[in-house]
Amino acid sequence: MKRKEQTVCPYCAGNGYVQLLLGGSETCYCCAGKGETKNNE
Ligand SMILES: [Zn+2]
Repeated sequence: MKRKEQTVCPYCAGNGYVQLLLGGSETCYCCAGKGETKNNE
């Protein structure tokens, strides 16, 4: 299996969006809706 330097976004848990406290959802700014973040080492 190939292993990329990508991990599940800890902010949105890989959903690509975050649940707002007031209701609704918003595209995760951390991963831009991808649900993944690159690990820049
Ligand atoms: Zn995210």
